[in-house]
Amino acid sequence: MTHPERPGVVAEHVVKDLVSGFGIAVPRGATTPAAEDVAATASGLTPPLVVKAYGPGLVHKSDAGAVRLGLGSPVEAARAAADIRTALVASGVAIEGYLVEEQAPPGVEVIVGAVRDPSFGPVILAGLGGVWTEVLRDTALRLCPITEDDARDMLAELRGAALLDGLRGSPAADRDALVKVLLAVGGPGGVVESLGDGFTEFELNPVICTPEGAVAVDARLLRPSPPTADARLPRPFSAWQAGDTRLPGPSPAETAETAEGGRPPRPSPAERAGRRGPGNGPQDFTRLFAPRGVAVVGASAKRPNFGNMFLAFYRAAGYSGRLVAVHPTAGEIDGVPCVPSLAGAGVDYALVAVPAERCPDVVREARGVPFVQVMSGGFRETGAADLEEDLVAAAREAGVRLLGPNCMGVYAPAGGQTFIGGRPGPPGRIALISQSGGLAGEVVRVGERRGLAFSKVATVGNSADVGPAELLRHLADDDGTSVIGLYLEDPRDGRALFEALRAVTKPVVALVGGRSAQGHRAAVSHTGAMVGDARIWTALARQTGLPLVTAQDDLIGALDLLDLHAGRDVPASADVLVVGPSGGAGVLAADALDRAGLRLAPLPGVDLGLPVGAVPGNPLEIPVGPRGRPDLVGRVVTAIQRAARRPYPDVLTHVNVQSFFTFGDSADPLLAYAHAVGELQRGLTGTRVALVLRNAEYAPPGVEDELRAIARSAGVPTYRSIEAAATAVAAAKVRDQRREREV
Ligand code: ADP
Ligand code: MG
Repeated sequence: MTHPERPGVVAEHVVKDLVSGFGIAVPRGATTPAAEDVAATASGLTPPLVVKAYGPGLVHKSDAGAVRLGLGSPVEAARAAADIRTALVASGVAIEGYLVEEQAPPGVEVIVGAVRDPSFGPVILAGLGGVWTEVLRDTALRLCPITEDDARDMLAELRGAALLDGLRGSPAADRDALVKVLLAVGGPGGVVESLGDGFTEFELNPVICTPEGAVAVDARLLRPSPPTADARLPRPFSAWQAGDTRLPGPSPAETAETAEGGRPPRPSPAERAGRRGPGNGPQDFTRLFAPRGVAVVGASAKRPNFGNMFLAFYRAAGYSGRLVAVHPTAGEIDGVPCVPSLAGAGVDYALVAVPAERCPDVVREARGVPFVQVMSGGFRETGAADLEEDLVAAAREAGVRLLGPNCMGVYAPAGGQTFIGGRPGPPGRIALISQSGGLAGEVVRVGERRGLAFSKVATVGNSADVGPAELLRHLADDDGTSVIGLYLEDPRDGRALFEALRAVTKPVVALVGGRSAQGHRAAVSHTGAMVGDARIWTALARQTGLPLVTAQDDLIGALDLLDLHAGRDVPASADVLVVGPSGGAGVLAADALDRAGLRLAPLPGVDLGLPVGAVPGNPLEIPVGPRGRPDLVGRVVTAIQRAARRPYPDVLTHVNVQSFFTFGDSADPLLAYAHAVGELQRGLTGTRVALVLRNAEYAPPGVEDELRAIARSAGVPTYRSIEAAATAVAAAKVRDQRREREV
């Protein structure tokens, strides 16, 4: 039953019928349109009883005075219904009927709800507190469909989870029953999935949990209201098919009326699906990263612009394929031969840097060029969504795949691709997909300065066609890539990204911009789209075993550690051994590890034969300085690893660089120490070693680079702070955990 004035609100008893079909317990009850009939309607029910009025305006029934509890008999129930009627009529609220039902015994009240995010699709929420949920804000989120592990993990995440286990002598609630409710709502084939795109909000609030089970005593469903002209279209989601909702939706007449009212009819799922996807362009991105020919559209014969800059980049990078500029009249630009049009340019990749309005025409001419990158801005990010649609349509027509618009391009040292000035760095195994071209450039250049080496970097800007999810799947299959970094602001198709992240087993690390309310505003002006709510990202990260970092430097640090230690089989455990000189640094290290969710597991309780000067404990103190013995670190760590029944998966060695130049005058002891740390790593296969060069800025020029190079040659990443190292180690541990789950 839907209400004509509010087509979205479905009456409680209809929703309860629906959910009980999914195995969710609801109170026994019955409905009647007339208050006078409530006694007769209630005759088969066991008191205490509850009476609730329903009607188009009754969304929050208690607030309106439409709920009465604790009624001792059908007659009392009838009296309560009459009272409700008097009160509601006085305040002008229309009543369609009365639900009279049995009152569930008291217990822990839990909210189970679901909403549809425009990018990520259906999301399920569980929270404690029933009516107090909004005050307590103790909720957990997951993307649907959830697994049983997800459901249990959600409950464990709640701060007040202990309430379910029984406090102060009260018996524990039936957690399994609640897990079943969560799965019935958000699991495969559950309520959410079967509603498809036939809901905007769904809520069981409360579900009352007792030792005997979990009963949904209230149920709410809001169906989508007819689309308005400016409504944001939901992303396509294959599992959602309108139809099998078992609930009446807007009637065809209603839909026709709306269409007549000048509003566009809702596009069919097929139409919506057609908005994205490869069209008839290539789905294999090999040539995007290694084009045999590159064309630049927009370089000027008179006034150097972005196009000319890119020609210079390719030349500086020593690009060895066919490089041409597209120009209607010029024969050559900056020494690069010109062709009059992209049609027949004979290249694998075209870079377009012309004003936004001209881009669709340029792309339409690109038939035969598999990949076209539109560098120009002035599309969706500035509000020109229509122009972006034109651009995508042009790409579909021409059978080309579109990168951008509003992006910088591709960097792949082995394939000759570049968007960064100067000579490319050495080819490596780190890949990056970035929605910001500027940030990608910084990560590459600063990363290379720190010794990282990249395989394939793609900037995707507005991701109008080629998006992060599709590229992620490509890079996951790329033998030359060991780890993938993501910088995202708005993945466009969050659902596809979620599915790709679940499928990809190679380590991935993500930095998501715009997760704070303030950052969000910045992101809107940057790529022009909503950034997924921070809590959805956290949920997605938990469900896919994706480490989320919060700073550019941490992205570089985590990628470095995951790459250098790729292939090392390390057991999943939060344990870390910290080794370094004494003092406050060790104490602060403990705090930093704590914040990163890492554990300083105690040393094995046997005589470790620690040398003079070592103070047992974790952090372990050893004399590291200009007069200390550099090999001490190797000796003590090896002894501990041997004695520990479960060796430490991670060892953080730290050193105070400044002390070597205050109490000594040569870099040699410090270099010797780096060599010793390298030797330690060489002897340990199942352990990741990281080196923290605290106060490295104190060292004379060049020394830090030398230290880094020594450590890296043994596969040891270096950091300038314990915090940075702890963040990288924590990221690796998220991946260890996921790997262990998959085994
Ligand atoms: P609303 O949320 O629209 O205000 P509810 O149907 O949730 O209305 O009723 C309000 C409160 O009354 C619930 O939060 C719950 O505590 C209690 N309640 C409602 N129905 C029952 C029932 N059948 N058994 C036990 N308690 C109930
Ligand atoms: Mg309620």
